[in-house]
Amino acid sequence: MEIHVDKDACVGCGLCVKDCPMHVYELQDNVSVAVRPNNCMGCLSCHEICPAQALEHRGIYAARRHYIDIKVCEMLRKVV
Ligand code: SF4
Ligand code: SF4
Repeated sequence: MEIHVDKDACVGCGLCVKDCPMHVYELQDNVSVAVRPNNCMGCLSCHEICPAQALEHRGIYAARRHYIDIKVCEMLRKVV
C-alpha cells in the first residue's frame, strides 16, 4: 500500500494515529508518518477522519477507479 502524507497540510492532531486499527501511523516532529504502510487493510477511516485531508492511499483509489470503470462499461453494454 502506498500511503502519502502531505506534510505541509498535516496539523499534527494525531487522529489518524489513534484511529488506525492497524497502527500504521506515528507522529514524528508533530507530523504523521506512515511507518507501517504494509499493515494497511484499506478501511480508509483515517482518510475520513483527517481534518486536513492530508492522507492519500494511491493504490486503493487506482483499484477503485478500475472497478468503477468496469462496472460502468458493463452497464453501458446492456444499454447500447
Ligand atoms: S486505511 Fe485503515 S488500516 Fe489503512 S492506514 Fe488508514 S485507518 Fe489504517
Ligand atoms: S489526522 Fe491528518 S492532520 Fe491529523 S495527524 Fe493525521 S495526517 Fe496529520
